[in-house]
Amino acid sequence: MVIKPKVRGFVCVTAHPDGCAAHVQQQIDYVKQKGPIKNGTKSVLVIGASTGYGLASRVTAAFGSGAKTLGIFFERPSEEGRPATPGWYNSIAVTKAARAAGLYAANLNGDAFSDEIKKQALEIIKRDMGPIDLVVYSLASPRRTHPRTGQVHKSVLKPIGVSYTNKTVDTDKGIVSEITIEPANEAEIADTTTVMGGEDWEMWMTALEEAKLLARGATSVAYSYIGPEVTWAIYKNGTIGLAKNDLERTARRIDALLKTNGYGRAFISVNKALVTQASSAIPVVPLYISILYKIMKAKGTHEGCIEQIQRLFASQMYNGSALTFDEGGRVRIDDLEMKPDVQAEVARIWPQITTENLAALTDIAGYRSEFLRLFGFGLNGINYETDVEPHLPML
Ligand code: NAD
Repeated sequence: MVIKPKVRGFVCVTAHPDGCAAHVQQQIDYVKQKGPIKNGTKSVLVIGASTGYGLASRVTAAFGSGAKTLGIFFERPSEEGRPATPGWYNSIAVTKAARAAGLYAANLNGDAFSDEIKKQALEIIKRDMGPIDLVVYSLASPRRTHPRTGQVHKSVLKPIGVSYTNKTVDTDKGIVSEITIEPANEAEIADTTTVMGGEDWEMWMTALEEAKLLARGATSVAYSYIGPEVTWAIYKNGTIGLAKNDLERTARRIDALLKTNGYGRAFISVNKALVTQASSAIPVVPLYISILYKIMKAKGTHEGCIEQIQRLFASQMYNGSALTFDEGGRVRIDDLEMKPDVQAEVARIWPQITTENLAALTDIAGYRSEFLRLFGFGLNGINYETDVEPHLPML
């Protein structure tokens, strides 16, 4: 099958297996080139391991510290005439590479919110891995079926209280327009917190703790975002921001649980805004990212998921001393994004952007090529004109 990108709005409905493998290999190469992360994780569970920040966490743990990895994700395999989702191919690629390097790697494709997947994960850990010393919680999901009630909760990306109007970009067509988003109602606010807040993370940690599958000194980290004022109405102060506040409260509870029981610590890492499948679905944010990339690339401070997570592991989590927290108790690897000179430049450019000057004032070209790379397109060394086997079994 010859596989070409088919972009529909903010998703690409096709993915290239060899391109995804090449994308994963680039991340592996980056981590190896940075050198070993000494005294790092030995055995890690990554929840949301197939794309974006979770995949980068898995790659860093395996190829930076030689860790055993169990990856949990929810991806669609190939069907007749249709390739699988990129996370499916990424996970096969990272598993092959890990095993070739003599590292244990296992995968569970299914709903991380369910009791069944948690049970299966505990069985794999007990049977093959021994106690886990790092749990990375990196889920980004539009919905959650609650394991106790069976109710399906859907997350929304909306402001709270008042409607919000700002510029946004159709990244596919390159059209800048004004968007007005009506505020969320109470049910939507609660639902978004049920999906993207901390309850499920806590369920995972409690299940691991009760099964005595956490190692002494075990760490758990979940990822969050804060960003600049221009995105606050839709992010930090919107429905997703409230869910992240819940995640932060949960981090403190899990931290207390880990500390009282002789394990280690739990914390939130605030990461940089980057092109991922999750962030491309948020209104306004892709335009901000396009401007940010232009500025940070010009300053030589741009990082992708792998650079961010390699830095989190090497300079914070496993640097031999304590984590550095902000006033809210969070680790900040969004520090370069949030630098005053970078944000002043964003604020200067933002009001000027129109469809006509989008290409000149922003890195929309970089945004698009990075978006396509998420689906395995535009990678060097891949011949996109030849047949490729789309049906690959999960390992
Ligand atoms: P992503 O879409 O690339 O990855 C999401 C992962 O979650 C995938 O592995 C997917 O398979 C998995 N997943 C989704 N639903 C699942 C389910 N029900 N069961 C099992 N797995 C499921 O997203 P991302 O951007 O890497 O986001 C990961 C985390 O990082 C999120 O908490 C997000 O808020 C945070 N974050 C993202 C950004 C950004 O700009 N992308 C910035 C800061 C923080």
